[in-house]
Amino acid sequence: MSTAVETKEFQTEIRQLLDIVIHSLYTEREIFLRELVSNAADAMEKVRYTLLTESGVKDKDAALEIQIDTDDSAHTLTITDTGVGMTKEELVENIGTIAHSGSKEFIKHLSSKGDQKDLNLIGQFGVGFYSAFMVADKVTIHTRSYHQEGKGYVWESDGVGSYTITEGEDRVRGTKMVLHLKEDAHEFAKEETIKRVIKQYSSFVPYPITVNGQKV
Ligand code: ADP
Ligand code: MG
Repeated sequence: MSTAVETKEFQTEIRQLLDIVIHSLYTEREIFLRELVSNAADAMEKVRYTLLTESGVKDKDAALEIQIDTDDSAHTLTITDTGVGMTKEELVENIGTIAHSGSKEFIKHLSSKGDQKDLNLIGQFGVGFYSAFMVADKVTIHTRSYHQEGKGYVWESDGVGSYTITEGEDRVRGTKMVLHLKEDAHEFAKEETIKRVIKQYSSFVPYPITVNGQKV
């Protein structure tokens, strides 16, 4: 089977935002995990609602939980949810091309702050996903929409200029985000670090969270 790889450019403001996220000095970069967990919870909230109102949801019996896995030797951190997932069009729209008004505003907010950037507010500007690039030099998203028809897709980027989309395997409903950690962020492949950060920032998330299979 041949799978075509499509390469697409990030929209201008997103490229500028990513440039700041990648190159600034910041103090609290662990907040990226709060953003990714909150996206996972949002996606499951949408599925939970849809399950109440529609019958044709893919994998309707999949448990609504967030699974986090660390790999200390591969230096990866993986966040998996059984939320709504994304179609190919949604991947392009939500993560990359359509201008979120928030990215421009957040750039403005940051440029008023001098050298020591405070990225803590990134989620409030509707661009929290991009905080992953504070700690990762590559992000791979495997996703499968909750719509019955359709396919799985893989989105991948180093956050510099462009991203790729490839047709993936027909996996379970939801999204798996793999963060390939930067050399100075290998601490986020350690189970203890992740448990601490989850307890600190995500204790009110209304879905079970496991780290390497253990509930936190
Ligand atoms: P916000 O959460 O404020 O919309 P983000 O930058 O955090 O902004 O996420 C952008 C969009 O990407 C989300 O609105 C959602 O459509 C999509 N998205 C991100 N993570 C997931 C996920 N785990 N499952 C499904 N969609 C997601
Ligand atoms: Mg978000």
